[in-house]
Amino acid sequence: MAGAQSSRGRVLSVASECVPLVKTGGLADVVGALPGALAGLGWDMKVLLPCYRALRAGAAGWPVVWDEADLWGGPGRVLSGEMGGVSVLLLDAPHLYDREGGPYSSPVGEYPDNAVRFAALSWVAARIAREGLEGWKPDVLHAHDWQAGLAPAYLAYHGNGGCKSVMTIHNIAFQGWAPAHMLGVLRLPGHAWHPEALEYYGGISTLKAGLVTADWITTVSPTYAAELMRPEFGMGLQGVIAARGAAVSGILNGVDTGVWDPGAEDPAFSAKSLVGKAASRAALCAEFGLEVPGPLAIVVSRLTDQKGIDLLPAVIPDFILGGGGLIVLGSGDPGMEGAVRALAARFPGRVAVRIGYDEGLSHRLFAGADAVLVPSRFEPCGLTQMYGLRYGTLPVVALTGGLADTVIGASPATLTAGVATGVTFHPVDALAFGQALAQLLALYAQPKTWAKVRANAMAHPVGWETSAAAYAGLYERLTA
Ligand code: ADP
Repeated sequence: MAGAQSSRGRVLSVASECVPLVKTGGLADVVGALPGALAGLGWDMKVLLPCYRALRAGAAGWPVVWDEADLWGGPGRVLSGEMGGVSVLLLDAPHLYDREGGPYSSPVGEYPDNAVRFAALSWVAARIAREGLEGWKPDVLHAHDWQAGLAPAYLAYHGNGGCKSVMTIHNIAFQGWAPAHMLGVLRLPGHAWHPEALEYYGGISTLKAGLVTADWITTVSPTYAAELMRPEFGMGLQGVIAARGAAVSGILNGVDTGVWDPGAEDPAFSAKSLVGKAASRAALCAEFGLEVPGPLAIVVSRLTDQKGIDLLPAVIPDFILGGGGLIVLGSGDPGMEGAVRALAARFPGRVAVRIGYDEGLSHRLFAGADAVLVPSRFEPCGLTQMYGLRYGTLPVVALTGGLADTVIGASPATLTAGVATGVTFHPVDALAFGQALAQLLALYAQPKTWAKVRANAMAHPVGWETSAAAYAGLYERLTA
């Protein structure tokens, strides 16, 4: 659906996950949200996905728009249709994707042929990008993460047919490694076996292949784009990304403002009236047996080292002494689960913990709390600080990645200018985090300033419109 405007161009997005069809992480949210957001800007995007077992029934009867008799040991067909409001191309290759279990693994472990499974997806993406389907020839191929990393490489090595390519990094930790002897099996030319190409510590990295061959590289925030060129963040690929620095940019993810809608939690809850906030906070305190004179903070997170959760025991006691309260929702590292439980035991009535994953509770927490703490050591984009902005739940964030790009920390300058939306700190240690919490307490003690910061936060745009416009701008520049 190209919308009211005439089509500016066509984009083939290729990924292993797409909301609402298949999701294991944030990648799926981006892949699922972009087609709709781009349609309004005149870009016609189709998403190419493997036809996993769970998707087969929904695609019954869909027309076959492409096929290859021998796609790594069996036939591959591309079926075209619409699922969950997204225009989808499903790569139906039962020998690769019709399996019990998740996209990458069965209950007994990772599929041993993942390199081939996602090479096939990338191969078909590149062929469609190069040759086009009947009546639909992409101008841009947009590859996401290591699973699609070979798609730009196949275009570079076997001809691109005029199609440009974009490689997006959602998670640099997964780099798509395969042993060197698979070079030919993966239909890659001998000259690709080179440190300047896809050779990576004696093997093949499909993510690196995409990074060295794509026309443009993006990641999910401008600050993370810069951080990825440094060894602390690049996880071995910093040199590769730095070498391509002139073709790297960061585009923040959006959040689904239909799902994260403070007005829907409580009709009284809006930017104009915060009556709903007070009621939500009271309900939350009753639910958790808390009595908090000062700001009520929350943490909704995986409890891991990345998220800086290990710093809580050092900083929360002073925050509690200052009048604050805390509710933690999350699970993860057993040591950290124990540490936050110990805080709750030490400060009954002021700290509560719920170990587990609970979407409904997370909504109630954002609706009722005053602040959300995100002390991450690295954060490619981050979502909870954006929920916090939208719900007037002031984000207290480490200055890294997308956190640095979405929150304007309160300071004499930003308060005078009237633009602050939260509290920021750097470096990620107990001293700086503790000072940030002290600053939060001080802000809370000045109701007028607090109200202004909260209004700024709620006015900050966090929907997909801004991201989609940035991707559309990138596609336009590439195809100009
Ligand atoms: P990451 O993907 O690194 O975990 P993000 O902030 O990008 O971090 O996304 C995490 C998402 O998972 C957010 O939507 C957050 O609200 C949600 N989440 C994390 N832990 C929980 C939990 N225990 N219960 C409910 N939602 C959670």
